Amino acid sequence: MEMIRLGCTELRVTKTAFGALPIQRISHSDAVKLIRRAYDSGINYFDTANMYTDSEEKLGSALHDVRQNVVISTKSGGQDKKTVQKHIEQSLRMLQTDYIDLFQFHNPADLPDPTDPDGPFAAVLEAKRKGYIRHIGITNHRLPVAKAAIDSGNFETLQFPFCHLASEKDLELVRQCKEKDMGFIAMKGLSGGLLNNAEACYAFIQQYDNVVPIWGIQHEWELDQWLELAARDVHLTPELEKVIAQDRKELAGDFCRSCGYCLPCAADIDIPQSARMSALLRRSPYEKYMSDEWHEKMHRIENCIHCNACKSRCPYGLDTPALLQKQLKDYDEFYAVHHND
Ligand code: SF4
Ligand code: SF4
Repeated sequence: MEMIRLGCTELRVTKTAFGALPIQRISHSDAVKLIRRAYDSGINYFDTANMYTDSEEKLGSALHDVRQNVVISTKSGGQDKKTVQKHIEQSLRMLQTDYIDLFQFHNPADLPDPTDPDGPFAAVLEAKRKGYIRHIGITNHRLPVAKAAIDSGNFETLQFPFCHLASEKDLELVRQCKEKDMGFIAMKGLSGGLLNNAEACYAFIQQYDNVVPIWGIQHEWELDQWLELAARDVHLTPELEKVIAQDRKELAGDFCRSCGYCLPCAADIDIPQSARMSALLRRSPYEKYMSDEWHEKMHRIENCIHCNACKSRCPYGLDTPALLQKQLKDYDEFYAVHHND
């Protein structure tokens, strides 16, 4: 399997990597089987987070006896030294390891300050001195924070959403990381499920030799799909470029990336799904959204109290309450025609 160098970390990782967020949704034994099969098939890089409930524990169970052969990155969103210290200790325990290859600050709203003695960075520097952490990176969904992270010189890697809907500014981040010899880890390569041609998504990212995508994997068929694309060494073709052009046309403008950073919602609205319902209805099998359960979920939008908490937290600057109202209207029109299909 193709390997790449993860920037100045000098870590050698497979260009096809395993995003371990979705394994939260499957049983322990199924997750262990899936992770182990990924490892046995040649994948050596696994990305998780303290926040992904039991994901670290499942990775630990699956990989503890081959620890020296894999690269593991995890994250903490802790905002002070003590919390991050606790998270690192917990990660080491759950992962059944005595070191983390790459620790990442998990989507901070502002850059952590390495000179603050009580801040999250202090815990990370201390852990690095003690050998618990080998490299320090950052993840983010906000362009200005990502840009500032690159400029700061304090991080060895950047994890950022990246797929063929990337804007010129997103592409600039990839170029800047390359210039600064920072590893670029691509999350949301399928844009949270909105992109449905995996081959096009894979081929697009293959163009960038400094980018490693972490594909979220929950099912055996998803693993098979990425392994098959890696084995075929898929690159862009005129046909795939047409798919990409069509996706860009259909999903142009502001759309919800399903990142979930707007939550919690005072009205218990499932914003990451509801705010992109129009696209889901047209780009994935729509039948499941015609259920009573989904009808009720979508109609929670009527209970929105317009507190604007979601809007203020959205890293993409979306007017989330307005977007939800539009989605509900579209959903109701679609439902009227299709709910008996
Ligand atoms: S504005 Fe509406 S959708 Fe947004 S958090 Fe408040 S209640 Fe929820
Ligand atoms: S509305 Fe914004 S914050 Fe919420 S899920 Fe969508 S993109 Fe993310």
